[in-house]
Amino acid sequence: MSENLIEVRNLKKYFRVSDGQLHAVDDVSFAIGKGETLGLVGESGCGKSTIGRVILRLIPHTSGEVLYDGENILEYSNEKMREMRRSMQMIFQDPYSSLNPRKTIGQIIAEPLLINGLVSRKEVTDVVLDLMAKGGIRKKLFNSYPHELDGGRRQRVGIIRALALNPKFIVCDEPVSSLDVSIQAQILNLLQDLQENMGLTYLFISHDLSVVRHISNRIVVMYLGKIMEVCDSRELFRNPLHPYTKALLSAVPIAKYNYNRERILLKGDVPSPVNPKPGCRFAQRCWMAKECCFEKEPELKDVGGGHCVACHLVNREG
Ligand code: SF4
Repeated sequence: MSENLIEVRNLKKYFRVSDGQLHAVDDVSFAIGKGETLGLVGESGCGKSTIGRVILRLIPHTSGEVLYDGENILEYSNEKMREMRRSMQMIFQDPYSSLNPRKTIGQIIAEPLLINGLVSRKEVTDVVLDLMAKGGIRKKLFNSYPHELDGGRRQRVGIIRALALNPKFIVCDEPVSSLDVSIQAQILNLLQDLQENMGLTYLFISHDLSVVRHISNRIVVMYLGKIMEVCDSRELFRNPLHPYTKALLSAVPIAKYNYNRERILLKGDVPSPVNPKPGCRFAQRCWMAKECCFEKEPELKDVGGGHCVACHLVNREG
């Protein structure tokens, strides 16, 4: 296994709300190897985007550690973190709202380079044009504004801007979910090409397992602030072990003629993440739940070959 670039240890992020504490991320641990893509999936509100923001210190954490190349960056001073931010970037879901509508594409890409003093004003145009070429944006769009571009091109600009500082690690937060399916594939291919050429490491956040499948080496499945299952991407699709993962996978369409997979429809409401009850977070919707599931929280255990599951009913013999 490759050396880890990122290690998240016992990370918690709670938000204070009027009736208690909202456990958005609750004691989550995982690692991402150098050059790896780790997919992070789950329904909306499961805490996946919060994890991305805490790792990049866009919001403060409650407790836990985030190691970058072995150092806990959550303890860095603001000044040290400012330097570190060059190595850690984010690609957002909605490229339109993350791009300044009053600036041209050239200016948007040039901005981080100039602010960080990486190039002189004389050199900047050539560097920006080079980055645009890498991201598949034609030169003639240099003086265009974001509203003149379609969604796919706008997301390319968002990606190029994230790459301008030559980062090592990128949090991709639902980067294709606002795009048409045909454009999604182009953006995913671009991200994969850039990863190969620049040795990038990705945390790829999505609610859509079929998107995550194609780009991720491993996948983390989250539910209500907790990790339910982690394993190699192919293994997850071949042999899902956690009931929640099975339900998510049953909703992923399969392109096979005459193939009808039985859909597992989850009953019951998603419980509130405010002051969660003891036991398994998934117990209220789990068709396999036993008494113990409502009393004791299952630990995330390796059931063999790095396939980790948090379920009382899944053991080594599986
Ligand atoms: Fe279902 Fe119990 Fe496993 Fe939780 S621990 S997923 S409730 S069987």
